[in-house]
Amino acid sequence: MNAPLTVIHARTLTLDDATPEVQAVLVGGGRVLAMGRADDLRALAPRAEVLDHRDSLLTPGLCDAHIHLVMYGASLTEVNLAGARSVAEVQAKVAQRAMTQPAGTWIRGGGFLLSELGLTDYPSAALLDEVSPHHPVLLYSRDHHMTWVNSAALRVAGVTDRTPDPADGKVVRPLGCLLEGASELVVAHLPEPTDAEWLAHARAGAEDLAARGFVSAHTMAYEEAGAPRALQTLAAGGELPLRIWACLPHGRLEHARELGLALAPGGLFQWGGVKFFADGALGSRTAWLHTPGFADGSGTGIALDPPELIVERGRQAIDLGLTPVTHAIGDRANTEVLDAYDQLRPAAHARGIRLRIEHAQHLRPQDIPRFRGLTASVQPIHLQADAAMIRTLLPHLEAGSYAFKSLQGAGAILALGSDAPVAPPDVRANFAAAVTRVGDDGERLAPGEALNELDVLRAYTRGPAMAAGWDDEGVIRPGARAAFTLWDRLGGNARALVF
Ligand SMILES: [Zn+2]
Repeated sequence: MNAPLTVIHARTLTLDDATPEVQAVLVGGGRVLAMGRADDLRALAPRAEVLDHRDSLLTPGLCDAHIHLVMYGASLTEVNLAGARSVAEVQAKVAQRAMTQPAGTWIRGGGFLLSELGLTDYPSAALLDEVSPHHPVLLYSRDHHMTWVNSAALRVAGVTDRTPDPADGKVVRPLGCLLEGASELVVAHLPEPTDAEWLAHARAGAEDLAARGFVSAHTMAYEEAGAPRALQTLAAGGELPLRIWACLPHGRLEHARELGLALAPGGLFQWGGVKFFADGALGSRTAWLHTPGFADGSGTGIALDPPELIVERGRQAIDLGLTPVTHAIGDRANTEVLDAYDQLRPAAHARGIRLRIEHAQHLRPQDIPRFRGLTASVQPIHLQADAAMIRTLLPHLEAGSYAFKSLQGAGAILALGSDAPVAPPDVRANFAAAVTRVGDDGERLAPGEALNELDVLRAYTRGPAMAAGWDDEGVIRPGARAAFTLWDRLGGNARALVF
């Protein structure tokens, strides 16, 4: 069977240095076959269908390089607290949900930030009890490093004033908030989604992303096993509208090795990375910092996976052909991960694997050159909410926060993402944040670190492809995957065009 041929006639940015801009692209069998002048391609393939997009801009397809895809799909049906500006607003949304859900069922939601709620202290369970005495309530902070729960949820979980803090987190007293691993005390009591629910969440997340112009995504661990399984099911059934590079939590590495992990490169679903967490996050004051730490006196944060463990399991990951992927927000966390990665570089290099740091958010100047050759997976959209917080909590690190230009200059590969559901996978907002660096408070954060639009495009397409080891993506040239994004203008309205 001959695959039909298509000529796309559009102003095309290829991101291929040999021919950076062309007039048209010929595709067939899901691949780019040729590119050049529209007349030449029509002569080459006279029976090809011609798509006239001369008013639009065609680029390699967008990839969200850091998303929790299935969790994001699930969040589309939960109470959305993004942008909530007061406790009263949170209460109103929870109250509304409590009226429509059967008593006793869980109300889940997320997206709030303490600073945006105008809080300087952790909120209590009692504030949620006022509006939801009979439904257990579990609300994630936007950075997912803390939860706010009500008394019904604490009762289900058996958490009381006398419950000790777990090793990897903290139960805030008076009761109401759970930091880092302490959230598990309650999360463990959530009903496990059925296979049908997992599939529905996976489909919702993937379809939402595709509708925003994405053709690929790197989905992070920090989801239960049902999540990647649902994506694999969709891929096997030909129902996955995205190409997925997935990360495994390092705790499951041993198990995966015993089972003989199927990497399945070339398919639409692929295991690609092994995920570590070096620390927490800024908003929850759990980012791991060098002294002096947080300017409000709340300490130097929390260290999570120890560097020795990252070295040991990172080596096992590389042996399996998987990329070590480590979350590091605070300056101390980044230093420690860079130290650990120095030990892994030779093995990674030998396997053609690019070591990778997620967020790389607050950096000491002396650490920036050490990112050379690594992937810096960054989320410009987060700087909007973080800018004001950085000025008050980390004034000494402002210049090295979201230091995109410096990282790029140091030879890091930038890969852009949203960390959805932490922030929406909003292409326009991510572009704008990277280019303008304007925070929600209207002020610019370290303006010298701004990227230009072409840099952003590269970091949203070619960067993630290089991070995943995909030679055939993030660039338009013969042999590449025929998966594009069509724009009214760069950084404007985007839609996916996949063959
Ligand atoms: Zn994340």
